[in-house]
This record gives sequence, structure tokens and C-alpha cells, in this order.
Amino acid sequence: MSDRTRFVLDEKQMPTRWYNINPDLPAPMAPPLHPATDEPIGPDALSPLFAMELIKQEVSMERYIEIPEEVQHVYRTYRPAPLNRARQLEKDLGLPEGVKIFFKYEGVSPAGSHKPNTAIPQAFYNKQEGIKRISTETGAGQWGSALSIACALYDMECVVYMVGISYRQKPYRRILMETYGAEVIASPSTRTNAGRHVLDLNADSLGSLGIAISEAVEDAAMRDDTHYCLGSVLNHVCLHQTIIGEEAIMQMEMAQAEPDVVIACVGGGSNFAGLAFPYYRRKLDGKSNARLVAVEPKACPTLTAGEYRYDLGDEAGMTPKMMMYTLGHDFVPAGIHAGGLRYHGDSPLVSLLRKEDAIEAVAVHQNACFEAAVQFARTEGILPAPESSHAIRAAIDEALEAREAGEDRTILFGLSGHGHFDLAAYEAYNAGKLEDYDFAAGSMCEGA
Ligand SMILES: *Cc1c(COP(=O)(O)O)cnc(C)c1O
Repeated sequence: MSDRTRFVLDEKQMPTRWYNINPDLPAPMAPPLHPATDEPIGPDALSPLFAMELIKQEVSMERYIEIPEEVQHVYRTYRPAPLNRARQLEKDLGLPEGVKIFFKYEGVSPAGSHKPNTAIPQAFYNKQEGIKRISTETGAGQWGSALSIACALYDMECVVYMVGISYRQKPYRRILMETYGAEVIASPSTRTNAGRHVLDLNADSLGSLGIAISEAVEDAAMRDDTHYCLGSVLNHVCLHQTIIGEEAIMQMEMAQAEPDVVIACVGGGSNFAGLAFPYYRRKLDGKSNARLVAVEPKACPTLTAGEYRYDLGDEAGMTPKMMMYTLGHDFVPAGIHAGGLRYHGDSPLVSLLRKEDAIEAVAVHQNACFEAAVQFARTEGILPAPESSHAIRAAIDEALEAREAGEDRTILFGLSGHGHFDLAAYEAYNAGKLEDYDFAAGSMCEGA
């Protein structure tokens, strides 16, 4: 075991391939279905919305896919990302020698999260195919800012439908996107049929990712010069994020440590996939025994309380039906501050692994997450995104459980982003004003 704290890779050591889990799945993927006819759809049906290269990656059976040189160049402006041992946190928790916590930090990207890892290749492939304008949705604003930066780099227009409650709670992300040159619209909006329909039913709608996706897809479907990009859920997004885990494996080797448990938060599943899928592969190779743990909010507990079935990816039925864990496409979660985790569904890949018991899932309340986030900030110095705080909570719980049981445990968690744009959430937490929500009641938790 190394006595170092930071495990730094040179940019020349950055992995040059993404890991594609498709050929290694424990069971076959159910095909996506047409939203109206329920017939299986082929890749061609997606071509009005997505770059051909991304559609190919969506269904590719190649285990490793080369990262284009041009994408590697941009990756190298902020990658390889750091992996640290959380020594001060360990000390603060009073952990014995044998219980160790490592974290892989994605907050060093220009957007402050893991999302540029897929925004950059998505913009790149679309540009290559002659697309001039990209539409998308965003929750907390992290995906929108990542795509805004990527579009600016490749000189493309970017239009972002931002979930209404986040648009109002998080103006700084909107300003960031606008500064990068994007147009940002609060969703539901009057721009699209989908948005107008929701507003007719409820003029005060908080919005949701499902609604914003409907609007962004409708926008792209109406114009020839426009494609749509999604920041999570889809197979090609999970693919691009595996750069995280490929690096982490090399860095944990530098640390002369092998994780017993790998933890990441789950909204649509992409940062979890990014960190955990390369470890899944490592398990198949017989080099790892790690448990892979997905962490989600109790207010939107897709993997722990949802049903595994076909559902729409969006509110209005613009997207194909996918086999996944879902709370129902019309579910509007409570307005928790981890906006990036307020999605009714989940990645079909992550869902399949959950269904086959290849991964575990836990759900946590937001106050417990902020408590962990503040402890982390005061010991490790990094202010975590509210989404990432879910992973910290679960990592601390693992460490305390190991301590109580007198067991050794090496814990690796994904710190998917920083919380510099989420200070209003920290202000509310510091003032004791955060509420905990349970899914079933859809209302405030008793005693919380
Ligand atoms: C978007 C986001 C998430 C949730 O999305 P996944 O696709 O589940 O990773 C988590 N953390 C941060 C910082 C995010 O920006």
C-alpha cells in the first residue's frame, strides 16, 4: 500500500480507448420500442436526431472503441483527472488502518463535472457530420454547461431547455451557459407543443428532466440543421464516461490498492457507469471482487423502488420506450437540490446490471447527504456537488460499517463534480431549511 495521497497520471498515460460493456452483459439487452407502435426500432429510426457515429456506438459489440485524436486533444486540457486518498476524512471518521477511502474527482473539468467527457465527443461527431445546431435539456445545469462549452469549441449553436425549478434556483449555471454562447429556455416553455401541453395542465409546473427532454427532442425533430444530444442514460454516453474508470484502475494500481467497493451516485447512470463498468470488466477478468454500488435520492429512488419495465424516456412520448427501472415517465420528483438526480428512469445498461444483481443500489435522504458533503468539504477541502454528496454519504456509511464490524475495507467513490454553483443549496442546509422527501408519499418525511 502506497503512503501517498495523490495518484497522478501524466497526460501521456491517459487511456486512448473507451470500454464498451455491450459484449460483456450478463443478459441480452431488450430492444428499444417505437413509442406509438411498440415495434422494436432499429438504429435508423434515431438518425433524424443523432449523429450516425453515435448511433453505431449505441449498438456496437466492439469491447474497446478508440477515442478520436481530436477528442483526446480536448480531453487532455483537463485529464487525466485526479484520484486521491481521503486521508483527512479517514482521520476525522476515526477509521482504523484497514479502512481506506479513495475518490476519483471529475470537478476539474471546465464545467466542473464529468459531463464534458461525453459532451466533447458528441459535439465532435455531430460537427463532423455537418450539423450546425444542437438542442438539449438540462437539470441542474451541469449537462447544459458542458454541452455549451463543447459547442463553443466546435463553433456550433446550442439551445438548452433547462428544468424550470433549476432555472430559478440556479441562475449562475444559466449565466455560464449564456456566456459560452448558448440559448437557455426555462422548461416547460411555450416554444414547443410538449411544453405548452404541460403548462395548460399546470401553469406552475416545476418542470422535470422528462418534460425538458420532450421539448429538446421536439425542437431537433422540427429542424434539419439540428440534432439532439443527451447527457446521460444512453449507451454511448455511458461508453464515453468509461475514461473515468479506465484512469481510476491505473491510479488505484499506483496506490497499490484494490477497491472492495466502488460507489457512485446515479441520476441517469452515466458517472456510475463511467467508474463502475471498467471495474465490472476487471471482475470478469478475475482481477477484482469489488461490489459496485449505485446511490440515488430517496425522493427519486428509481433503482431501489422503481419497476423494471418498458417506459418512455420523456414526458410526452417523443423518445423510444426503453427497458429500464422507472418511476413512470409522468413522475415529477420533489424539488431536491440534487437536480441532476431527478430523473424518473435510468440507463438501460445500469438497469440491466441491477436486474441481474451485478450491481447494488441504495437510496439516501438529502439532509444526510449534505451532512456528509460538509464533513468532506471541511476535511478534504473540496465542496461537492449535491449529486456527488450521495456517493460521499454511501462511502462514509461503508467506512463506518466496516469499522463497527472490525473489517478491512478499501472504498473508492466517484466525486462527479464540485458544488460552486450550488451555494444556495448549502445556504439552505446550513440554515436547517432542507426538507427530506420520500417517494411513496411524494411528500415530506416524518421526523426528518
Ligand atoms: C449530471 C450529474 C450527475 C447525474 O448524472 P449521471 O448521468 O447519473 O452521472 C451526477 N453528478 C453530477 C456532478 C452531475 O453533473
